[in-house]
Amino acid sequence: MDLLHGKPVAEKILQQVRDESTALVAERGITPGLAVVLVGDDPASSTYVRSKARMCESLGWKSIVERRAADMTEDDLLALVRSLNDDETIHGILVQSPIPSHIDYERVVETISPRKDVDGFHPVNVGRMVIGLPAQESCTPAGVLEMLVHYGIETSGRRVVVAGRSNIVGKPIANMMLQKRRGGNAIVTVAHTGAADLGAITREADILIVAIGRPRLVTADMVKEGAVVIDVGINRIDDPTSDRGYRLVGDVDFDAVAPKCSAITPVPGGVGLMTIAMLMHNTLRSARGDFR
Ligand code: NAD
Repeated sequence: MDLLHGKPVAEKILQQVRDESTALVAERGITPGLAVVLVGDDPASSTYVRSKARMCESLGWKSIVERRAADMTEDDLLALVRSLNDDETIHGILVQSPIPSHIDYERVVETISPRKDVDGFHPVNVGRMVIGLPAQESCTPAGVLEMLVHYGIETSGRRVVVAGRSNIVGKPIANMMLQKRRGGNAIVTVAHTGAADLGAITREADILIVAIGRPRLVTADMVKEGAVVIDVGINRIDDPTSDRGYRLVGDVDFDAVAPKCSAITPVPGGVGLMTIAMLMHNTLRSARGDFR
């Protein structure tokens, strides 16, 4: 059984981004800039935002973090997004989710210029991706495809089951993998809460991609012998033996499932590391004007 670590893949992507960014600065005088908007003081969101800003800084990029109180109005947030759309030094805009419930998240996403939508959540980018046109692509799904390609896992013609149909993970992964492209051309099934027997579907997978947000829900009996398992899940479970009082586990019962697999991603240390690398990749593409 091979362990599919995210670190070498994320490092490879970040090295490419660094090299291409150096060329962009030298040849066209463009320094990429990323703006992250954080509404409220959710501790996990603050941590994510800090690490995104630090990554930009490590690449020598411009990084703006716009922090706002949880009671800000939707109009004010939309005005902030529009001002970042107009800022020529900013190439990527990301509004960290979750945002307070009195603000319509979809409206916020639709206000971001599709060219600066480095999360790949804008309907224009989603639509372009689905019909196979160049687009900003959602970071975690794009990271999964990069991992499959990096580790030489053949996807063409193989049965892929995606468990989960969220707009940020399940649906985009399924759509990317059915495209005729690198890491795609697969025969894709999407399973979700409507499935009466999830295991009956997941057992058909040559490549099983799990993004359901339920700790260790996928057990050994739900996985075919020799399957490749990509666990996107990141869940906190109580752990009194840890200093933090919790630890991270995936949506897959790793200890039981791993012996049956030909390859599997660990949690942590697997897909989770790819998201920020792909965010930097998307920001570079925006700065280069790949979507004009
Ligand atoms: P979500 O809650 O938005 O969606 C979960 C999906 O799983 C839903 O579509 C639902 O239909 C399906 N589902 C839930 N329970 C199910 C069940 N018992 N049987 C079948 N389907 C079921 O979650 P999400 O945002 O897609 O995230 C999924 C997981 O991936 C979470 O653990 C999240 O933390 C993790 N995640 C990781 C990264 C990363 O690695 N950087 C990024 C995003 C999400």
